[in-house]
Amino acid sequence: MSQNNNERIEPVKFLTYLFLLLLGVLLIMGIKTLTFNSPSVSLTPAIDNSDIDVDAVAKRLSQGIQFATISHMDERQVERDAFTKFHHFLKTNYPKLHANLSLEMVSELSLLYRWQGSDPSLKPILLMSHQDVVPVDAETRDRWVHEPFSGTIDDGIIWGRGAVDIKSGVLGSMEAIEDLLAKGYQPKRDIYLAYGHDEEIGGDNGAAKISALLKARGLDFQFILDEGGSIVGDGIIPGMQTPVALVGIAEKGYVSLELKATAVGGHSSMPPKHTALGVIAQAIVDIEAHPFPANMAYSRQLFNTIGPAMGGVEKAIFANMWLTEPLVEHILSGSKTTNAAVRTTTAVTMAKGSSKDNVLPSEASAVVNFRIMPGESGESVKAYIENVIDNSDIEVSILGGFAGEPSSVSKSDNESFAMLKDAIYRVTQDESLIVAPYLVTGGTDAKHYTGLSDSIYRFAFNRFTPETLERMHGINEQIKVDDYVDVVKFFRELILGANL
Ligand SMILES: [Zn+2]
Repeated sequence: MSQNNNERIEPVKFLTYLFLLLLGVLLIMGIKTLTFNSPSVSLTPAIDNSDIDVDAVAKRLSQGIQFATISHMDERQVERDAFTKFHHFLKTNYPKLHANLSLEMVSELSLLYRWQGSDPSLKPILLMSHQDVVPVDAETRDRWVHEPFSGTIDDGIIWGRGAVDIKSGVLGSMEAIEDLLAKGYQPKRDIYLAYGHDEEIGGDNGAAKISALLKARGLDFQFILDEGGSIVGDGIIPGMQTPVALVGIAEKGYVSLELKATAVGGHSSMPPKHTALGVIAQAIVDIEAHPFPANMAYSRQLFNTIGPAMGGVEKAIFANMWLTEPLVEHILSGSKTTNAAVRTTTAVTMAKGSSKDNVLPSEASAVVNFRIMPGESGESVKAYIENVIDNSDIEVSILGGFAGEPSSVSKSDNESFAMLKDAIYRVTQDESLIVAPYLVTGGTDAKHYTGLSDSIYRFAFNRFTPETLERMHGINEQIKVDDYVDVVKFFRELILGANL
């Protein structure tokens, strides 16, 4: 064959190969999409199907909301009396629980209960919630339909601060235990209840102290359950038409770095090319231009679980993450909500130069806040930033000398996760619902419990729509009475299921 012939044939061959390759890719994508299915759910009836006294249960939550157990950064503003009265209310309203469980006060206001099980060879479980709530902004008060601490029950809805975050968790778990005790139930495992009093301001005096106590006792829990995820309905996850119970398996860490540059000060009439503040400004530009690399591990796990229930294009995309992951990463990075789920985030929050307009700063500084992905650390964030800035004239230090490290990562394919999942299904009786692991981008008290169990989950049985989600920490926080009854049932099923 002559060379000439070859030249004519090669492009044709190339196009043929390209066509075959494309066909092959499409075929694989098609097969992957068609076989991308959720494992079938076989619903089992609730272990305890007995009635719950709806009116009494709702009324007690309404009363619980009326104690203004508000957390303030300034401790002097905290009304300790509200907490003490709330404790008294719990003792009066859950007498069987208080007669059968031991109670320890931690840091005076946090509560740690223990319900002793019959089989000491089994690992205990720990159910967490917190007693405190966030304040109500004075300027928004008149936009509340019912007074935020009135606990008004109106048309099947319980209103007030703490309705979902999270007096419903404290009282809901107590209702379940009081109900089980009334039936003479005795668990096999020890069941611990931990209700901190300062979660909304970091949990350093509550959860952190309780955790230290449990660690000192050498405890290792089968699982620990705190708030974090919830059941999200239509419209919260784009492309999902069915409800998803999001269970947090890890939570991000927190660190702020301070950048400092020094220079010769003086009058600003004959300035150098870059002042100390200019040097810091350049560093800020560099930092913003170099976001941390994406870590798709958690999104991959989430989309693997919920992808099969999505519609056409989305389903095809998530069924073929082997090919589409760069595209998915690009899309997730483009929105601030989803970006926070794929990487350590960077937020430049403070800056300082000289104190007068015509004075050169002898020192300039900036503070950058980072939310750290699991697997990274305060020190690794610092090293990354030093590398990005690449300027030995800038001193980088961890603000306050302390980083809140990211949590450990819990498994979602083990016995503990199955216990949680089963309890969710036994209450919802909804086979379209999907229970999916995810990364919590905010903070919960659970971060203090790292090391006390290899199964630490963040999930509260709340049902959210985009509208009700906004009300948490916002205006007109509320919970439907029916949903609250399910909170009680959920705790009952969880305890029973973990003690079979
Ligand atoms: Zn909360």
